Amino acid sequence: MSVLVYVEHADGKFKKSVYEAVSYAKAIANQQNTNLTAISIGNVAEGELKELGKYGASKVLNVTVEQLKNFVNQAYGSVIAEAAKKENADIVVLSNSFSGKGLAPRIAVKLKAGLIDGAVELPNFDGGFSVKKTAFSGKAFAITTLTSANKVIALNPNAFGVKENAVDATIEAYSPEIKATDLTAIVKEIVRATDKVSLPDAELVVSGGRGLKGPENWGMIEELADLLGAATACSKPVSDADWRPHSEHVGQTGIAISPNLYIAIGISGAIQHLAGVSSSKVIVVINKDPEAPFFKVADYGIVGDAFEVVPKIIAALKAH
Ligand code: FAD
Repeated sequence: MSVLVYVEHADGKFKKSVYEAVSYAKAIANQQNTNLTAISIGNVAEGELKELGKYGASKVLNVTVEQLKNFVNQAYGSVIAEAAKKENADIVVLSNSFSGKGLAPRIAVKLKAGLIDGAVELPNFDGGFSVKKTAFSGKAFAITTLTSANKVIALNPNAFGVKENAVDATIEAYSPEIKATDLTAIVKEIVRATDKVSLPDAELVVSGGRGLKGPENWGMIEELADLLGAATACSKPVSDADWRPHSEHVGQTGIAISPNLYIAIGISGAIQHLAGVSSSKVIVVINKDPEAPFFKVADYGIVGDAFEVVPKIIAALKAH
């Protein structure tokens, strides 16, 4: 038995969430006293694949089939499941990213495996195989026990952290058979819309709500985010009104994030918004209404007008 981790890349580079998934998978492999193999699909340079050894992957299966150059949910799911069988892996780990959310259930079905999506801690083997995970759109935690022989775990980004565990990674070319039925749609090209920090992976997030009055006032949000090296986010009404792109909408019906720092500016803190951000490590709220519900979950709160407070923070950051 062994552990397999799927390492997704963006333009040939691995993100922090991938190193986190590898670190997590390695910790499970150590618990089980077994090996960790990674599988990469697409064009990733050998040097980048070797980096995975730093976090504990002793072997990397490298799939460079032209038809799988870009992400295809169905085909990737089949390839990862086949790789798990080939490696005799009873546990498959992946990041609970956009693509991970789609892949994890597919892999689980193909392996007849139990699935834990949104894991936030390592498995506990005391009473079986139990894992703490987020539930109800991040409003609660659940401890789920898997009784199946095979297991698939999708780890929430920023939940475990990156941990070095250096081994020498061997890169092995892997050419799985690809079924035509898995390739009913092929992604020919992915064009990146922006070079900004990607929101799901961001460690720092600056977010704006309806309190900012209109899209013309987002300059200060972007400036603050640039100074901090943060991603920008927004509440649902803001993206509904087209002040900001829908890709920035966080919450129950948007993206769920768990950055180290979430700065909420002019956002009331409705339950549906909190569902997507409440697992942030530190929450800072700037709101002119001292009764705004967001203050109840804030680690730090500033009661004040965003149009006065934010420029002061920007000036202070520039002064340092
Ligand atoms: P508002 O509620 O209008 O709050 C604006 C805040 O800005 C207020 O607290 C106000 O005091 C403050 N403010 C005003 N002026 C200033 C100023 N000058 N300086 C500082 N503060 C100021 N919402 C989400 O965000 N994400 C979701 O995923 C989501 N999903 C939903 C799903 C369902 C089924 C439903 C019914 C609703 C959902 N909503 C979601 C909407 C949610 O209920 C709230 O309506 C929304 O989050 C409010 O957005 P807001 O805080 O930006 O705006």
